[in-house]
Amino acid sequence: MRFIDSHCHLDFSEFDETRTELITACKQVGIEHFIVPGVSLAQSTKLLSFTKSEPSISVALGLHPYFLSDHQTHHLAELEQLAKTHSGQFIAIGECGLDRSIDNLDKQTQFFEGQIELANQLALPLIVHHRQSHDLIARSFKRCKPKFGGVIHAFSGSEQQAQSYIKQGFKLGVGGVISYPRAAKTRKVISLIELQHLVLETDSPSMPLAGFQGQVNTPLKVRDVFTHLCELKGATGDAKLQLAAELYDSCSELFLI
Ligand SMILES: [Zn+2]
Repeated sequence: MRFIDSHCHLDFSEFDETRTELITACKQVGIEHFIVPGVSLAQSTKLLSFTKSEPSISVALGLHPYFLSDHQTHHLAELEQLAKTHSGQFIAIGECGLDRSIDNLDKQTQFFEGQIELANQLALPLIVHHRQSHDLIARSFKRCKPKFGGVIHAFSGSEQQAQSYIKQGFKLGVGGVISYPRAAKTRKVISLIELQHLVLETDSPSMPLAGFQGQVNTPLKVRDVFTHLCELKGATGDAKLQLAAELYDSCSELFLI
């Protein structure tokens, strides 16, 4: 079986001591590829050289709402410039999105919609972050329609919300959340969605799986996410091989890996 971790922050300092060994350990167990999102202008710029040293890493360029206080209005234009200068060296725009736990939703919306426009201009998918914000994202998507789909990272929400994203060309990111029994609603929704609309992710170093709280999450855990998904789908034996293959294709088709 081979896997892609469609969302991991491998460039974060948590991995500085272990990155090379970690990537080797991942490859030994079939985790072949890693997608590392951009979170700020400075970090996105650095990511472009990060990918050169390791062909199994693809990167995205983006301005994440968590780092809103770092983002200046001119960063949007600079992100566009960076993207145009380095076309072909990254595979998506993001991590961008809207997060109700962070102040200043007007500024968040301006950056989010600016990045949707940029993705449309460059014919690239988006990596979308949400927190209590499906309604706001729906509004942004109406004003500024994404043309090339993307991933709704760490999807949690209703089946109706899931289907609405799928209709708009998005896949749902499935991560450690499904390992928690208390995430019954998300587990149920994910169990109902066809595999071609799902991608596996860890969001490492964040989002540890159940039983690993307080530890640094790593891309190695993408296999555990897969195991939990197999349980939700009732897949055993050869059906698991088929499931892994479909998830791999779902991710590689979206990001053209
Ligand atoms: Zn992330």
